[in-house]
Amino acid sequence: MDSVQEVKSRLDIVDIIGEYLQLKPSGSGSFKACCPFHQEKTPSFMVNRPRQSWHCFGCNIGGDMISFIEKIEGMEFMEALELLAGKAGVTLPKFNKEQMGEKKSLQEANEYICKLLQHNLLTSPEAQIARDYIKARGIDDLTSDIWRLGYAPADWGDLQKKIQEQNITASDLIKIGIASAKENNQGIYYRFRSRLMFPIQDPFGHVIGFTGRILTDEKVAKYINTPETILYKKSHVLYGLDKAKTDIKRQDMAILVEGNMDALTSHQFDVKNVVASSGTALTREQLNLIKRFTNNIAIAFDTDAAGLEATLRGMDLARQMDLNIKVIRYNQSIAKDPDELIRKDLEHWKDSIKNSKPLMEWVYQHAFEQFNESTPEGKKQIAQFILNECRHIQHPVERDAWIFKLAKDLDIAPDALRSALSKTASKSADSVGQNSNIIKKTESTELKMEEDASNTAKQIEERWLAAALMDPQLFHELDITWNHTPHVRLYNYLKSKYNSSVHSQIPENPEIQSLIDYLAIVADKEFGELDKSAISAEFTDTENRLLRLSDKLTRETLEQQMREAERKGDTARIQELITQFQNLKT
Ligand SMILES: [Zn+2]
Repeated sequence: MDSVQEVKSRLDIVDIIGEYLQLKPSGSGSFKACCPFHQEKTPSFMVNRPRQSWHCFGCNIGGDMISFIEKIEGMEFMEALELLAGKAGVTLPKFNKEQMGEKKSLQEANEYICKLLQHNLLTSPEAQIARDYIKARGIDDLTSDIWRLGYAPADWGDLQKKIQEQNITASDLIKIGIASAKENNQGIYYRFRSRLMFPIQDPFGHVIGFTGRILTDEKVAKYINTPETILYKKSHVLYGLDKAKTDIKRQDMAILVEGNMDALTSHQFDVKNVVASSGTALTREQLNLIKRFTNNIAIAFDTDAAGLEATLRGMDLARQMDLNIKVIRYNQSIAKDPDELIRKDLEHWKDSIKNSKPLMEWVYQHAFEQFNESTPEGKKQIAQFILNECRHIQHPVERDAWIFKLAKDLDIAPDALRSALSKTASKSADSVGQNSNIIKKTESTELKMEEDASNTAKQIEERWLAAALMDPQLFHELDITWNHTPHVRLYNYLKSKYNSSVHSQIPENPEIQSLIDYLAIVADKEFGELDKSAISAEFTDTENRLLRLSDKLTRETLEQQMREAERKGDTARIQELITQFQNLKT
């Protein structure tokens, strides 16, 4: 067995993909989920356990567990294989640094630096200031260990020797953002000095960057981060996700905090479904990361600050992505952030999570707290703030209920609010864009119809073949013109397989193999929940459609050939085609 086969045989595709998507059982041995590669509300992403394959009917792509990892992690084949080999406990043959790929070797450099700084925190006399700080902040040894805290010294001289012994070059250090090149290329300087170091890890726990907190009184930025590198993309990271993912899945809820310390402290006190956005406005990539594990987010952001606007914008995005959003409120006179709150009153933190409110409720309450409802100007501000949010409510009855409540609370006519709402809505419609779309539509309609017909034919063929694959007894010979060439090959393969007593006399070529994988998923999707007689009825129906389509296709082909023959004046060919026409059944 080669390494690829060995890795695949030790893992289950359902477990692997299940780490990214919420898979729901569907049919025998199949699972479905909303596709991570395109936006959708009803699941068209299927995983088939018996065949260890996946397919999305929306994007029309699929493959095995390796191709899934490649696609979702943006990895090369070898990287994806290594990741899976790690999970499977398979050691792949060692590659040298050049072959290993830059990304992997930089990952190892980061890992080494992380270990070095961890060790430095525990042993260096200079790091006493950091050890004191950690103690003062109430971080225990276990937490410090788990989160791999470290200390970056004022002078990296001693560490540099060790780094060089590992064959990590100055250029590597620049590439991972630990160092910068000095002007005129006169060596490098280390970015993090006299700082407590918080490694930033990807969902698998690989160190991809660092946040450093200054511990001296120097007039420098309190926190600095690794700049954007090959490994570290700020907008793609949620701090602590590697440690929180299991709990997020288990509790079907991700709690989002702003600061790294908020996440770390919450974990220390056993509320572990918590990740930090590290103070940036939420991005699509971050929300996608969360969506791998849950559709429910509760945010505990400082909503009084100027960050509110950014937070709400992030929530817009979350809503578009069909995430349910709640807002966690706590008494800000007790503490200014979750970190402080957890230390002062853990129960209050837990209660706040339990009592988190849907975003709309929070917005409503917030508007009334922010603006003065007794003045006309205040009423306008409250209405604007709330209506802005109302626009996003999909269900008209729910939307109207809020409007009615708002009208009552502001003591104004509901119709005034309704017309204000429709104004905001029509303003956002882009009429120019719509016009140009109409023109485009007319031009492409003809092409589109042709394409549709061919797609329908393909789907009916798929359905027939899928049923025949599922139940060999359904298979019988058909005298038809297939629309889709690979289907001919599969049909011929099935014919020889099912009609012969000698099994597998034809080796399955990779094309047929992957078509069978795909059709097994189609079979589960189409017939998975039906009993044998229902499948048989569906099969007959499909076959009738297939025969009609094939007739139509044959007729069209003959007609085209006839026109061609007439144009050339080829009488022999014309005669031949006429005979064929006459032989058509109807
Ligand atoms: Zn898709």
